[in-house]
Amino acid sequence: MSTENIGKKVGFLGLGHMGGPMAANLIKAGYEVLAFDPVPAAQDQARQDGATVVATAAEAAAASDIVITMLPNGRIVLDVYGDVLAAAKPGTLFVDCSTIDVADAQAAAELAAAAGHRALDAPVSGGVAGAAAGTLTFMVGGADADFADALPLLEIMGGKVVHCGGAGVGQAAKICNNMLLGISMIGLSEAIVLGEKLGLTHDKFFDVVSTASGQSWALTSYCPVPGPVPTSPANNDYKPGFATALMTKDLGLAANALQANGVDGQIGQLAADIYSRFNQDEAGKDFSAIVTDIRKRSGEE
Ligand code: NAD
Repeated sequence: MSTENIGKKVGFLGLGHMGGPMAANLIKAGYEVLAFDPVPAAQDQARQDGATVVATAAEAAAASDIVITMLPNGRIVLDVYGDVLAAAKPGTLFVDCSTIDVADAQAAAELAAAAGHRALDAPVSGGVAGAAAGTLTFMVGGADADFADALPLLEIMGGKVVHCGGAGVGQAAKICNNMLLGISMIGLSEAIVLGEKLGLTHDKFFDVVSTASGQSWALTSYCPVPGPVPTSPANNDYKPGFATALMTKDLGLAANALQANGVDGQIGQLAADIYSRFNQDEAGKDFSAIVTDIRKRSGEE
């Protein structure tokens, strides 16, 4: 654990599926959370968890030593920064945990610095269950001293915290990982459907591939067909888990970054397109349900 170097007052903006339980863990650990979310149900839950719910984001920021945001997208993050930066005390540390475009994360950090504040991007993996259990993985971009100051709070909300580099590099780690996950889930699903056509059972496929060179986390921890991994969403009618809508969002961010940086990422772009199409009908299903779409498109139900 690192030394405590920041006050106990935390502004928390965005108390949805992720932000709500993250804020609750800070309160349990003794922090005073000043919370804002426009949705009444999120406000009610935050009050029950022990937060002080305030009327505006600026009010939360003005009274806090550190401000955490957990918001749906980059546009909203930049809008909220525009609303709150002028109200905050000089040198306030802003930590954005939302998953957003690398360019938006860099723009948010520049806005904060121009207003006399400090900023980190700190997106997470681990989902709603990790947020509730305080076991999220944080991927952090920003200056060393700001990382050190945020660390005690991130260690309460997370099980693993990695300082990845400067501004935006936390988001870079997040989208690189999720691009690879999306690609590997599609590739695995195509191999499974091909195996089905060729008479290979799921159990035998798993037996061989899980210890052969085609092995992947998608297969061994999150198998997209029922049976081999009893905890995977495939055993629960593809209830998320990690929803197709979120995978589609992350692959869109990855595709933007591929284009913006001139990377010849043909498979990453294709993965974004494949999930974007699947998302039109099955946004609420776990992303591993892509195997059912490939099966359907291959003339099988
Ligand atoms: P969510 O939609 O449940 O929560 C977002 C919250 O932000 C909502 O309660 C909304 O009312 C609030 N909000 C919107 N505008 C606001 C504003 N101007 N000021 C304050 N609050 C505002 O989404 P979530 O599932 O909690 O995800 C939050 C972020 O975390 C997203 O960027 C998402 O991509 C990322 N993420 C989600 C998961 C997951 O499994 N849900 C996993 C990893 C990362």
